[in-house]
Amino acid sequence: MENKLHIYNTLTRKVEQFIPNQEGKVAMYTCGPTVYHFAHIGNLRSYIMEDLLEKTLRYIGYDVKRVMNITDVGHLSSDADTGEDKMLKGAKREHKSVMEIAKFYTDAFFGDCKELNIKTPDVVEPATNCIQDFIHVIQGLMEKGYAYECGGNVYFDTSRLKDYYVLSNHSQEELLVGVRDDVDEDVNKRNKSDFVLWFTKSKFDSQELKWDSPWGTGYPGWHIECSCISMKHLGEYMDIHCGGVDNIFPHHTNEIAQSEGYLGHKWCNYWFHVHHLNDRSGKMSKSKGEFLTLSLLKSKGYDPRVYRLFCLQSHYRKPLEFSYEVLDNMGAAYDKLIKRIGTLHREGQVDSLKVETWRQKFEAALCDDLNSSMAITVLYDMLKEDMSDATKYVLAESFDQVLSLGLTTAYAEREADSGVDAALEAYILQKIEERKEAKKEKDFAKADAIRGELLEKGILLEDTREGVKWKKA
Ligand code: AMP
Ligand code: ZN
Repeated sequence: MENKLHIYNTLTRKVEQFIPNQEGKVAMYTCGPTVYHFAHIGNLRSYIMEDLLEKTLRYIGYDVKRVMNITDVGHLSSDADTGEDKMLKGAKREHKSVMEIAKFYTDAFFGDCKELNIKTPDVVEPATNCIQDFIHVIQGLMEKGYAYECGGNVYFDTSRLKDYYVLSNHSQEELLVGVRDDVDEDVNKRNKSDFVLWFTKSKFDSQELKWDSPWGTGYPGWHIECSCISMKHLGEYMDIHCGGVDNIFPHHTNEIAQSEGYLGHKWCNYWFHVHHLNDRSGKMSKSKGEFLTLSLLKSKGYDPRVYRLFCLQSHYRKPLEFSYEVLDNMGAAYDKLIKRIGTLHREGQVDSLKVETWRQKFEAALCDDLNSSMAITVLYDMLKEDMSDATKYVLAESFDQVLSLGLTTAYAEREADSGVDAALEAYILQKIEERKEAKKEKDFAKADAIRGELLEKGILLEDTREGVKWKKA
C-alpha cells in the first residue's frame, strides 16, 4: 500500500490517516435504505460515494467486509421517534402489506444500484430478520442500567453517557430544533434526548408487524437495528461507518450510545458522511416537487452512469445541487470519454512502468479524502499522455474498478444496441458535414440526396436548434 488513505472523520472533525484495527482488513458498515418508497437520486448519491469509498479501499489493497441493513421496520416519520412508521405509511398508500412493500422497494433499490454499478455489500440484512438480536442487546442495556421501561416503551438513558453528543458537536437545543417537524413531547422520557429502543405503546397502534418481547408485544426502534446488525456481522470493533449527513444526528449519535453502552468500549473509529444532493428548491423530497428517481432520469433518456459521473465530479463533503443543464453537460462529456476509450487500439505493447506511474497518481487523488473529480482529471491527463493505446486501455480498465463508469465497455454496448459501429458513425458525421456545406452553397438537391442516401442505410437526420442530429430510422 504505497498510498495511504486520508479521510475526513466526523468523529474527530479532521482529515486523518485511515488505520484499520486489523492490518489489511476493513470492517465497513452502511446504513441501508428505508424501503417504503423508491430511492430518490439524493439517496443514491450517498450510495454512489460509499461505493467509491469501498472500491478505493479495495483498490489500494484492503480486504473489505461491508455490511448493510435494510430498514423494513421502526423508522418513524420523524427521525426523533415520533410519527407513524414509514413502512406502514407506504403500505397504506399502496394498499399492500408491509412485507410486500418491503420486497418491492428492496428489489427496486438494488435494481437502481445495479444500473449505477454500485456493488452489493457482502452482507445485506433486513431488520425484520434480526428481532431476537435486538431484544438480546436491549436486555443487555437494561441489565447494565443504560435502558429503562416507562409507559410500555423501553428507552435509552442518555444521561448515563459521558458524552452523548460525541459525534455531533452541537448544543442540545440546536440539534433538537433541527430534526423535529412534528414534535410531541414524550412524557415517559427521563431526559429530552432519550430515545426508544422498543415500542409497545405508540399513538399509532395499527403497526402491522409486532413481535413478543420481555416488555410486551411491540417493535424495535430504528437506531437499534444498525447497532445490532453491524455487531452481528462485524463483531465488537468496526473501522468505518457510513451514511448521509442527516444520519449524524440522531441516528448515528444514538447508534454510538447504544453500541458503546452495550459493549463497554469504543466501537467505531471512523465516521464517513456524504453531504446532500439538493434540488433547486432545497431539500430533496419524495412527496413534494418532482420526485427525482433514477427511473425518471432514464425515462428522459439519461444513461444512469451519467448520473454516477455527475456525482463523482463533485466532492462528497460538499452539498451538490441537481440540475438538468449540468447533467446534459455530463452526458456530452461521458459520450466523448467512452468513445475515446472505446476506440483505443488494444493490441500492442503495454508499458508497465507507465501503468504503475499513472496508477499511483490515480490512487493519490483518491487517497486525498476521496478526491474523485481529481481522479477523473488523472484519467483525462492519462488519455492525453504520449504512450501506446494498449497502455491507456489497461489503465482505463484499472481505474474503472473504482470509477465504475463502464469506461471500456459502454461504447461497444451502445454500438451493439444501435447497430452502428465506429466506421459507420464516422461516415454519418462526414455526410452530415457534406450536407451542411451543400446547404450553405444552396445546393438543396445534393443536401436531399445525402439525406436520402443515409435513410437508405437506416439513418434518419433531424435538423434541431442544437444542430443536425442522427438516429436509427
Ligand atoms: P433513507 O432511505 O431515508 O433511510 O436514506 C437512505 C440514505 O440516503 C441515508 O444514508 C441518508 O442519509 C441518505 N440521504 C437522504 N437524503 C439525501 C440527500 N438529499 N442527499 C444525499 N443523501 C441523502
Ligand atoms: Zn443506520
